[in-house]
Amino acid sequence: MALIVQKYGGTSVASTDRIKAVAERVAHYRNKGDQVVVVVSAMSGVTDKLISMAKEMNAMPAEREMDMLLATGEQTTIALAAMALHAMDIPAASLTGAQAGITTDGVHSKAKIKNITPEQVHALLDQGNVVIVAGFQGRTTEGQITTLGRGGSDLTAIAMASALKADLCQIYTDVDGVYSADPRIVHNAKKMDRISYDEMLELASSGAKVMQSRSVEFAKKFGVVFEVRSSLNHHPGTIVQESTPNMENVVVRGVSLDKNQAKVTLEKVPDHPGVAASIFKPLSESAVNVDMIVQNVSHAHGERATDLSFTVEKTDLAKATKILAELRKNIGYQEINTNENICKLSVVGVGMRSHSGVAAQLFEVLSETGVNILMISTSEIKISVVIECVQGEVALKAAHASFVS
Ligand code: ADP
Ligand code: ASP
Ligand code: MG
Repeated sequence: MALIVQKYGGTSVASTDRIKAVAERVAHYRNKGDQVVVVVSAMSGVTDKLISMAKEMNAMPAEREMDMLLATGEQTTIALAAMALHAMDIPAASLTGAQAGITTDGVHSKAKIKNITPEQVHALLDQGNVVIVAGFQGRTTEGQITTLGRGGSDLTAIAMASALKADLCQIYTDVDGVYSADPRIVHNAKKMDRISYDEMLELASSGAKVMQSRSVEFAKKFGVVFEVRSSLNHHPGTIVQESTPNMENVVVRGVSLDKNQAKVTLEKVPDHPGVAASIFKPLSESAVNVDMIVQNVSHAHGERATDLSFTVEKTDLAKATKILAELRKNIGYQEINTNENICKLSVVGVGMRSHSGVAAQLFEVLSETGVNILMISTSEIKISVVIECVQGEVALKAAHASFVS
């Protein structure tokens, strides 16, 4: 008998028929004698719809109320999934994140899991139930409902698998596994049998939304091996695990495109110690994730001043500009410019640690494709460039063709 955690994403529970199909798959494992914990997302489109309704009420809705609202999406699915199993005479019980014992910090809309006390999950499993847990949500020690960031049901599943010491963690989605690029854009992308945590993490944090990046971080930290596979067939998926020497032979494992980035430029920022801290500390205290940063030391402005550009998630742009506008006098910059028409292209592979020339090859491909590079950043296993968004998909295909095909 194995303890299995299965997570079903939005498309996999998009309709009552899809939920019935999920129930059949769950029943298959349960009837083999396995204990099954199912983590579900909101039905496809529901979270977006709730967000747009909130925006109709208030352009900047209070984050506490937003979490209260968004948590209802997953709550609908858990109850429907339990009902579908009951109709098949399978005992099942649904639990909200709070009932499943998921305690988080108080950062609404991006809460971090502090700990999980899954007594109720264990008790229900021991009574023979399939346990269905609402993804993407938790509660603070004070009892406030929180959500874990977009795509956060992945994190619920990985964290649950870790807390329950599950034998297997399966992430069911609408593609057969992790590909060398988004298969919806790059049609000849290759499905991988295995990928390392580090590569999956870099791809996920660079726009490959097949896994939420924080969930991969969690899996790496706690050693949770998981499989990404399709809920629409029975093909083997992609195993995500610690890297093996074999994996290092591949220089570039995958390419990704992040369209959820925006560029902020502060013009004529005074060039003296402490200025960067006075800009980035308040942003980080408000949970705005800053990604690439470029500072030009410019003498053209006469007094020592510089232009500073950085990227934030599009969804954080309004918050970031509001914070920076309030700090303008303190920081002393002249002007703030924002650009939402950019995206970030990344090439990723652990093999880059021991191979050189990847950056040069990427720049050459982009130049041959007529793509202008606005910003560059590199890490040990990733090279990212910011480019105009209209050229994003062309650039992605060209990079994929050069490195992977
Ligand atoms: P779910 O609702 O199951 O969580 P998501 O929509 O969040 O599913 O993620 C699955 C989608 O991720 C796929 O439909 C695919 O278009 C996209 N995707 C982006 N990059 C990749 C990649 N490298 N491999 C597989 N899928 C990817
Ligand atoms: N429903 C949430 C979202 O759409 C969480 C998830 O699907 O994982 O982001
Ligand atoms: Mg997802």
